[in-house]
Amino acid sequence: MITDKPVSVTGASGFIAAHIVKQLLEQGYRVRGTVRKNQKNYPFLLGLAGASERLELVEADLLRTGAFDLAVDGCEYVMHTASPYELNVKNPQKDLVDPAVNGTETVLESCLKTGCVKRVIFTSSIAAITDEPDSMKVFTEKDWNTMSSLERNPYHYSKTLAEREAWDFVMRKRPSFDLISINPFMVIGSSLGPSLNTSNRMIRDIMIGTYPGIMDVNWGFVDVQDVAKAHILAMENNTASGRYLCSGNIMNMKELVALLKTAGFGSYPLPKLDLSGQAGTLLMKALSFTQPRDTGMYIRTNIGRTMHYDNEKIKRELGLSFIPLKDSIIATVKDLVKWGHLPPQKNEK
Ligand code: NDP
Repeated sequence: MITDKPVSVTGASGFIAAHIVKQLLEQGYRVRGTVRKNQKNYPFLLGLAGASERLELVEADLLRTGAFDLAVDGCEYVMHTASPYELNVKNPQKDLVDPAVNGTETVLESCLKTGCVKRVIFTSSIAAITDEPDSMKVFTEKDWNTMSSLERNPYHYSKTLAEREAWDFVMRKRPSFDLISINPFMVIGSSLGPSLNTSNRMIRDIMIGTYPGIMDVNWGFVDVQDVAKAHILAMENNTASGRYLCSGNIMNMKELVALLKTAGFGSYPLPKLDLSGQAGTLLMKALSFTQPRDTGMYIRTNIGRTMHYDNEKIKRELGLSFIPLKDSIIATVKDLVKWGHLPPQKNEK
């Protein structure tokens, strides 16, 4: 334990943040989490082991200036995870960019004001590194997404601008705290709360036959427990610095569907038609225009391209090892069934 002061976690109700809160409590830390509604709405947080003695929830909205003053007051460590995570929104500026960027500034201003913060761990994303895999390139922490905009992958744009704002803030204001960013790719695994997270929804959609076939797309997967652990390791490790790409194995859709079958989920309507060849990619690019605007854009900028990245820094400097992907996938599917996001398999009813 490196502090007896509460560790502040913004967006504590979120998929990733709830696991951060759980792990911090398990390790004996006091936690102050921010939520948007009355704290009675979060029994899954209030029921965590250690919560009754060491968790307090305070209300804060990213769009309200000064909203995080109380949340970080007297804290030495702040984990800023709150940010809208949605691909399709009506108004990308208002719904994604404003809360992500202005919210980051608001949280950092509150950290500056309280004066005792030593480190801020910022939950960024692979989205701030790239929105378009490049089959010829291995992405690292040195890369920045320069292609997204309000029209092109606006979620990626919001994460890029928010992380840039965080680094610019520490350059501009030279606060007493340092900044670390954790940049995960597709975060999956068990959810502590009832909401269906955008990344677990992608697994659910594959399992309920939403996609017409197996496309040539791939993702880097990371278990939500590992992402939470990475935040805590980044807080506790004195020599941690800069950005950390936080993702385990890369897997394409064909391999993912095969894994789901061998893991015993073959009775779900998994996609069968193989559209992962060149003709399939052309067809899917054409069909992407029938999808919601931002899903279509994501497909067009990702299909037919293979992602490569180097995740050595987080393993070497923070000592993080990744939960095997098969275990995370199985946990995700069981959890989707548990929360009613996915019907049970016929033989399990
Ligand atoms: P969730 O949607 O589960 O959590 C987002 C959190 O942000 C929620 O607590 C939400 O509150 C809060 N939030 C959103 N808008 C506001 C606002 N205006 N004011 C205050 N709080 C707000 O997503 P994740 O847990 O997956 O994401 C957490 C972070 O991780 C985000 O920054 C996301 O970009 C990043 N990330 C996620 C990845 C993933 O695959 N899941 C991958 C890479 C990065 P409420 O519950 O009230 O809606």
